[in-house]
Amino acid sequence: MLKVENVTKYYGDFLAVDNLSFTVKEGEIFGLLGVNGAGKTTTFRMIMGLLDASSGSVTWNDKKIDYDVTDKIGFLTEERSLLTKLTVKEQCLFYGTLKGMQDDVIIKRLETLLEKFNISEYKDKKIKELSKGNQQKIQFITAIINEPKLLILDEPFSGLDPINVELFKNEIIEMAQKGSMIIFSSHRMEHVELFCEKLVVLLKGKTVLEGKIADIKKQYRKKNIFIKANIELEKLKQVDGVLSVSNVGDEIEVKIANEEVAPKVFEVVAKASDISKFVIEEPSLNEIFIAKVGENYEK
Ligand code: ATP
Repeated sequence: MLKVENVTKYYGDFLAVDNLSFTVKEGEIFGLLGVNGAGKTTTFRMIMGLLDASSGSVTWNDKKIDYDVTDKIGFLTEERSLLTKLTVKEQCLFYGTLKGMQDDVIIKRLETLLEKFNISEYKDKKIKELSKGNQQKIQFITAIINEPKLLILDEPFSGLDPINVELFKNEIIEMAQKGSMIIFSSHRMEHVELFCEKLVVLLKGKTVLEGKIADIKKQYRKKNIFIKANIELEKLKQVDGVLSVSNVGDEIEVKIANEEVAPKVFEVVAKASDISKFVIEEPSLNEIFIAKVGENYEK
C-alpha cells in the first residue's frame, strides 16, 4: 500500500502542499486533481523521493521509496524527457536496462506495447522524427516497460486526442486489473470520472475534495433533472427544494437540493403536455468542484 500521511511542503515561506493524506492499494487507480499550481507535481516528487517533504511521510509497503525499489516503479514526468536522438528501440533499451531488465525481455515488451498503441512501424525511427502525440506514447511506453507495481503519471493525457486518451486509459485499467497501483494527475475532471474510483482534489495545496467518487457524489446530495416538456419554467421554480431552472438547448435543466425533491418536480411535469424526457442525473465532478471552490480558478 502507498501511504501519504500528513505531507506538507514549503518552498521557502510558500506553502505548496498542505497536510495531504491519502492511501492507494494494489489494483487501485487514484486521481490527483487540481488546476495549475495546485501542488500535484510537488506531491509526485515527494512520493518518488526526489524532493523532501517539510513534514509528514510517504511509504510504500511500509518503506520509504528509494533506489532499491526503482525497478518496480514507473514514472511519467510532466516535463517530457525523451532522448530524442535515439530510436524508439534504443530509448527503451536504455530505460529498461536501468530498471534491471534483460535486452530480450525489453524488446518483447516493447513490441507488444507498440502494437497496442498502433505504432509498430516506429520501432527503429528516431524519436525526434515522431509527432508530439506519438512521442508521448513512447514516453508512456518507457514508463511502463518494466510492468511497474507502482505507476505515477503526471498529466499523462495532456495534449492527447480522444482516441489516444482512450488507448492510454485502457492500458491503465489493464495494468490495475493485473494488480499495479496507479496514481495520475490531471486538471480535467472528466478524465478522472470515467475510470478512477478514488481521488483527491487540491486547490493551492489544500485538499478540497477527497475519497471515492461515488461517496463524494452521495454526500453532495444535489441532483440535476433534465426535462423535455411543454411547461412554464416559473411553475418548476416554485417547487420547494428546486435550486435553479434553466434552458439547456431544447431541454430544461432543474437543479434540486436532494433526491427527495424529484417526485415533487415530477408531479408538476406530469401535468404538462408533450413530455418526452424526465431524467435525474448526478452532477459531474467538475460541477461539484466549482460549487465547492467557486468559479474563480484558472482552468
Ligand atoms: P501544474 O498543473 O501547473 O503543473 P502542479 O499542480 O503540478 O501545477 P506544482 O508544480 O506542484 O503544481 O506547484 C505548486 C506550487 O508550488 C506552485 O505555486 C509553484 O509555483 C510552486 N513551486 C513549485 N516548485 C517550486 C520551487 N522549486 N520553488 C518555489 N516554488 C515552487
